[in-house]
Amino acid sequence: MRHNDLQEIGEFGLIKRIAGRTRRKDPFVQVGIGDDAAVITPSSPAVSGKRTGRLLITTDSLVEDVHFRRNSPPDDLGWKALAVNISDIAAMGGVPRHYLVAISIPPSLSVEYLDSLFAGMKDAADRYGLSLIGGDTTSSPDRIYISITVLGETSDGAVLRNGARPGDNVFVTGTLGDSALGLRILEKTEVRGQRTEDRYRTIVKRHLRPTPRVKEGIILAKSGMVNSMIDVSDGLLADLGHICEESGVGARINVDKLPLSKGFRMLSTEYGGLELALSGGEDYELLFTGSPLLPSFLEKTKGVKYTAIGEIVKEKGIAVSGADGSFYAIKGTGYDHFRRK
Ligand code: ADP
Ligand code: MG
Repeated sequence: MRHNDLQEIGEFGLIKRIAGRTRRKDPFVQVGIGDDAAVITPSSPAVSGKRTGRLLITTDSLVEDVHFRRNSPPDDLGWKALAVNISDIAAMGGVPRHYLVAISIPPSLSVEYLDSLFAGMKDAADRYGLSLIGGDTTSSPDRIYISITVLGETSDGAVLRNGARPGDNVFVTGTLGDSALGLRILEKTEVRGQRTEDRYRTIVKRHLRPTPRVKEGIILAKSGMVNSMIDVSDGLLADLGHICEESGVGARINVDKLPLSKGFRMLSTEYGGLELALSGGEDYELLFTGSPLLPSFLEKTKGVKYTAIGEIVKEKGIAVSGADGSFYAIKGTGYDHFRRK
């Protein structure tokens, strides 16, 4: 295998390669490639004469047959395409403001489908207070491509991935694994041509219409108590891996502490169990670190529902264990678009 084989270097190897080859000095770029969103100084204080806030910019694409199937509801797809981008702004502790949509469409697609897609996007935009300010529309030979860019802002300083320190706790908002379980349930019911049963519906919705934690991200950033943050898009272990790599630390996770929904506890066993909470992606919860021993940690993070799931340690790597000290075997660490394990 050649060294520059995509399947060898993987998605993240490729991104590092691009970053390395395109790097240049730019005093207006506070954070470039490598975090959930870029952090930009919108204009020089020397020009505007005053201290300005920071602009946050992020982009994410959804590709038919990679991220979604044609038969999944287009309004849910629209919601999700925007929500996953909003989530990257949330992961910086920012406020999302505007978005652009670049879409490539096979000419045979119905206008109803597109109306519904954009209606779902508008739902998410209304819910989180964003307006559509532009985009691009082209034809595509056979598949649908949706690429969204979201602009946001922060005045209190964005929370990056690189601030975790040994002794910190690792926290996560909400519950883990629901989205991956929802996807498995959907796939199974689709194969059988069934409608999704009622008791599965909340879990499936967590996959189809994820909830970016915008309010939570803003509170956590404002608290000044959080030294690293990321959203769980690739899976808990993979995303914690990003925090650890950027911070130069390792982590220990206690599986018994993972926050699981009632539905997940009831239904997950036959679909892979805890593995889904550890490595399944697309929960779009916020994963963050900080020291709960700091005075007023609880007070300042009030209003956010989160769970401590482990701690940051000096030794590199992520160890996963149960409360009784037993180690948990990790099968996958998350999704990579190219890498062959
Ligand atoms: P996330 O899951 O938070 O959206 P990704 O894993 O997609 O982040 O990307 C990691 C980082 O690499 C981000 O800062 C993103 O902007 C950057 N990135 C990804 N692909 C490219 C690319 N083709 N060119 C430049 N930067 C990229
Ligand atoms: Mg992210």
